[in-house]
Amino acid sequence: MRPSKRLERIPPYAFAEMERKIAAKRAAGVDVISLGIGDPDRPTSPLVVEAMQEAVTEPETHRYPSNRGRADFRVAVSDFYERRFDVELDPEREIIPAIGAKEAIFNLNLAFLDPGDYALAADPGYPVYTAGPWLAGAEPVLMALEPKLGFVPDLDAIDEQVARRAKLMFLNYPNNPTGAVVPAGFFERVVEFAREHEILVVHDNAYSEIVFDGYRAPSFLATPGAKEVGIEVFSLSKGYNMTGWRCAVVVGNAETVETYWRLKTNIDSGLFEAVQLAGVAALSPDGDVEVASMNELYRRRRDLVCEALRGIGVEVHPPRSTIYVWAPIPAGYESSEAYCEHVLEQVAVVLSPGAIYGPAGEGWFRISLTTPDDRLLEAVERLGKLGS
Ligand SMILES: *Cc1c(COP(=O)(O)O)cnc(C)c1O
Repeated sequence: MRPSKRLERIPPYAFAEMERKIAAKRAAGVDVISLGIGDPDRPTSPLVVEAMQEAVTEPETHRYPSNRGRADFRVAVSDFYERRFDVELDPEREIIPAIGAKEAIFNLNLAFLDPGDYALAADPGYPVYTAGPWLAGAEPVLMALEPKLGFVPDLDAIDEQVARRAKLMFLNYPNNPTGAVVPAGFFERVVEFAREHEILVVHDNAYSEIVFDGYRAPSFLATPGAKEVGIEVFSLSKGYNMTGWRCAVVVGNAETVETYWRLKTNIDSGLFEAVQLAGVAALSPDGDVEVASMNELYRRRRDLVCEALRGIGVEVHPPRSTIYVWAPIPAGYESSEAYCEHVLEQVAVVLSPGAIYGPAGEGWFRISLTTPDDRLLEAVERLGKLGS
C-alpha cells in the first residue's frame, strides 16, 4: 500500500546516508564515537526512579489516566513554574500533561492548522516544526535564526502575506541546535508580533534547566502578555535525564490548553499516572540538586569540547545552556555534510551536519555533550589529530 500523500511530503531522514556510513565502518571493526545524538547518557536520578517504583505498585495508577492529568501532578507543575520562573499557572485550566514534547508539538499542529495555513518554524530547528505542519496538511514557513541577532529570527523580515496566513509560530530557547539563549527583549517583540498578526506562539522549552555560568533561562510565559498569545511546552526529557519516560506538559493560554485537550481525547489516553508521580518527584525542590550536578558535568564537557575545537582552528562560543556546542565548519569544505564526512573518515567521530536541522544550519555543525566522559575525551583527542 502506498503511504498517504501527507506522509510522502516528509523529506527523507537527512541523517540516513551518514547512518549507513557509520554502520559500514562499525561492521568493518572501526571504533566510531558518536557525538551526534542529543540523548542524556546519565541515568534518571534515584529520586525519580524510586518515586516511579513506588507508584507502579499502586493499582490506581494502572487504569486509564485522565487526559487532564492528575491533580497532584498539575499542582507540582504549577509550584515549579512559580518557584523556577515566577510564572503563575492555574492547575485547573492552564496545565495539561503531554506524552513528551514531541507528541505535544505534533498534535498542536493538528489542533490548529487547516490546509493552506502557515506555521512559522525556527530554522535550524527541531524537525517536528516542519513535519507537524506537513502532516496536518498545512505549510511550514522557515524563519532563519540569524547568528548576528543572537540566533533569533528577524521578525521584521517576515512577509506581510505570510504573517497574515500564519497561525502558529514555533520557537525554542534555550535553543537546539545552536545552544543560543534568548536575547533581552526578543520575547517581548514576539508577543507584540503575535498580537498584531493573531498568531499562536508555541514555545518549546526543552532546555531551561541545563544552564551554565550563572545563567537562568526564562520561561516564555514570564513575558508580559505571553499567556494571551501563547503556550509553552515544557519537557522533562533533557533536564532530568528522562527521555525514555515521555513526560512533558503544555502550559499557558487556557483556551489553547483546552483545544489541545479536546484533540488529545481523540488520539491518546493520557500520560501513565506512575510517570506523572515520577514527574512530581523530579519537579520538587529535591530534584534541583540533581539538576545542579548534571549542569556541572555538562559544563566540564562543554569546556573540554570548546578547547579542543579551538585547538583545531574552529571558532566557537561556549554556550550558556543546552547540551550542544554549535560551531562553524572550517574553511575549505563545500558543505556541513562534507565536513562531517571528512571527520568521520579521518578520525571516526560523528558530528551532526548543521544542514540536517534546516537550510539555515548549513555551514555549521553540532556536537552533543551526552557522551560518557571517557569516550568524549577520546573523541576530543581524535579531533585534535585532525590538525588545523
Ligand atoms: C529533545 C527535544 C524535544 C523532545 O522532547 P520530548 O519531551 O522527549 O519529546 C523537543 N524539542 C526540542 C527542541 C528538543 O531538543
